[in-house]
Amino acid sequence: MADLRELYQEVIIDHNKHPRNFAKLDNFTHESEGYNPLCGDKIKLYLIIQNNMIKNINFEGSGCAISTASASLMTEFLMGKSVAEAEKAFKLFHDFMISDELKVDNELGKLKVLGGVKEYPMRIKCATLAWHALEAALHQDNQSVSTE
Ligand code: ZN
Repeated sequence: MADLRELYQEVIIDHNKHPRNFAKLDNFTHESEGYNPLCGDKIKLYLIIQNNMIKNINFEGSGCAISTASASLMTEFLMGKSVAEAEKAFKLFHDFMISDELKVDNELGKLKVLGGVKEYPMRIKCATLAWHALEAALHQDNQSVSTE
């Protein structure tokens, strides 16, 4: 557990200081906005999806370290994956974050470090915000989501 906690802090600090894929994307095919009123986190997500593959995924926004790091990790994880794989990852990640167990599906890879957030239940929505925005973007039903 101590190792996970250290790794969690390192990854959050790194991805918050140097968020990956942090820019507006031109020519995006899908977009959405996410807002977490509990913490004030806001993100905008841009995707280029061709032939059901995520060719590019970027985000912009302002929020706490956890929401920024989670969005950064998510874009890194989903880059080049299929839409079906992204949907599956959303479900795995969401279930992982709301369960009491620390057991993780290996398919989540590096995303498992976000399990460290579970020690701070108030912050779980910071970690899942980007993923809810992803769902909204993929379905294009309601392009603005709130965690409330
Ligand atoms: Zn937050």
